[in-house]
Amino acid sequence: MPEDVIDASELDPEFKFEIARQPGGENIKLCFQCGTCSGTCPVRAINDRYNPRRIIRMALLGMRKEVLCSDFIWLCSTCYACHERCPQNVRIPELMMAIRNIAIKEGNVHPLYKSYVEMLDKHGRLLEVGEFENEKRRKLGLPEVATDVERVRKVFDATRIREKVEGKLAERVCTTGEGSK
Ligand code: SF4
Ligand code: SF4
Repeated sequence: MPEDVIDASELDPEFKFEIARQPGGENIKLCFQCGTCSGTCPVRAINDRYNPRRIIRMALLGMRKEVLCSDFIWLCSTCYACHERCPQNVRIPELMMAIRNIAIKEGNVHPLYKSYVEMLDKHGRLLEVGEFENEKRRKLGLPEVATDVERVRKVFDATRIREKVEGKLAERVCTTGEGSK
């Protein structure tokens, strides 16, 4: 069967309900496919293979494996630009996180996730905030951003997140990019 043909026998009609039971995924069935989110998404502006409307459509159709293996669910930057404009309050960034949580439970941790953990381990946040950024903040009358790496590391040690991510990556089911075409 050609790659772009959907095999109805492989669809999982329960998938949308499974997502809707996750925190953040509750509103998935409200999506009426207007495409406003895709027109807004900065990730899509850089790479048109990534398309929030399309991935929601795939989820609603029951394309479970393709969605859980998609790059897109990991590349959403949670900027909330789409959330501001969605007429149905689908809460897209939170929906993407709900889908990621299902993917992680199934052992589908994207390699990007390791970079997130490394950045948090190193800087205590996903972006390094240094003197340059704090100087700008001072000029704007904003307080400096304090970074408490030790607190983050304590959480990492207690949860063994570094080892868990390494372990999940080693047993990863999906190959990068699968399902995201
Ligand atoms: S903007 Fe909202 S309703 Fe429109 S396609 Fe995106 S999620 Fe669906
Ligand atoms: S929150 Fe994610 S899907 Fe929505 S516009 Fe930002 S990057 Fe795109």
